[in-house]
Amino acid sequence: MSRVVKTRITKPKEETYTAEVRCDLCGALATSPESYYPWEKSYDVVRPEVRMQTGTNYPEGGSGEIIFFDICPECFASKVISAIRALGAEPTVEDWDC
Ligand SMILES: [Zn+2]
Repeated sequence: MSRVVKTRITKPKEETYTAEVRCDLCGALATSPESYYPWEKSYDVVRPEVRMQTGTNYPEGGSGEIIFFDICPECFASKVISAIRALGAEPTVEDWDC
């Protein structure tokens, strides 16, 4: 065997993370703040999204801006849909399966 593997303790590094997410409308606390989908838990799929991403994207990389709101599922169903309907739009509803 020409490879020797050992174990060592490395210096902890400082990093930022999202420790808490609250609904921008009602203040409800999200269940999984570090997740990209903070309103999900275990195997449930709950992904309310109100966002717009703009910028440039090339094969070697890209950058830009994301404008978004943290909206809980209850406010999405009871407030966001009715607010957008009040602007004159009807939502598209599709089934999904994977
Ligand atoms: Zn809410």
